[in-house]
Amino acid sequence: MSFVRPKKHLGQHFLKDMSIAERIAQGLSGHGEYNQVLEIGPGTGVLTQFLLKDKFETSVVEIDRESVAYLHQHFKSLSGRIIEGDFLKMDIEKHFEGSFAIIGNFPYNISSQIFFKVLELRNKVPEVVCMIQKEVADRLVSPPGNKDYGILSVLLKAYYDLEYLFTVGPEVFNPPPKVNSAVIRLKRNNVAALDCDEVLFKTIVKAGFQMRRKTLRNALKPINLPEELMQEKVLDLRAETLSVEQYVELTNLITSCRKS
Ligand code: SAH
Repeated sequence: MSFVRPKKHLGQHFLKDMSIAERIAQGLSGHGEYNQVLEIGPGTGVLTQFLLKDKFETSVVEIDRESVAYLHQHFKSLSGRIIEGDFLKMDIEKHFEGSFAIIGNFPYNISSQIFFKVLELRNKVPEVVCMIQKEVADRLVSPPGNKDYGILSVLLKAYYDLEYLFTVGPEVFNPPPKVNSAVIRLKRNNVAALDCDEVLFKTIVKAGFQMRRKTLRNALKPINLPEELMQEKVLDLRAETLSVEQYVELTNLITSCRKS
């Protein structure tokens, strides 16, 4: 039996514990009625084997040629659904018609970029179940007012309901990572579009968090707030204290001032 040597630069930490892999696969609730699943970074297929037992049609995208060769050899039933390449550069339209869920023990070094991509694909991706660094998971699920609350927490919460499923220690991986891990689930909410200018919303969130220690009045200077808004109380707050709804309100306030 061939063996894939873990490569650090690809964020490869292979799961050794089958029961954890099974629990991750069981995290898919079917929310949003998809029948296709895309696994990011299957490696040697530890998680994949459980997905193949499920009722979903499973595809995988893997950047590591050695892992891809391993999968071809050991998972005949995946034939035609092993995509060799970088998930971040993948042409989704080419491979998926209709909606699909995303699952994976993500390469931790690119997990934020994966979430930004998920946001772009939000109307095709009703559910995501993933293992990521615990610290990142804490940040994503964190409520407003918490120091961990960040850009991705706001943007993801605008379109997804986030749930922390369980914590995983380093000992179940080969090689063990230096950090703890956690499995989270994202379920697409019923917000088709935010009730505001979505581009401006994103600009405000990003600008606010770029200077998270400052009040929004100062942090939002680069985007030229209308003068008549300067006295608004909400601008006394810092980016990390506003909920999605408050960001929507602020966006609308700015839009209406700019129009008048
Ligand atoms: N699912 C496996 C491996 C997880 S390690 C397990 O649990 O054992 C993360 C995997 O993501 C590795 O196999 C790595 O090669 C792959 N990977 C890293 N960057 C990637 C990218 N940009 N696109 C797709 N796969 C990637």
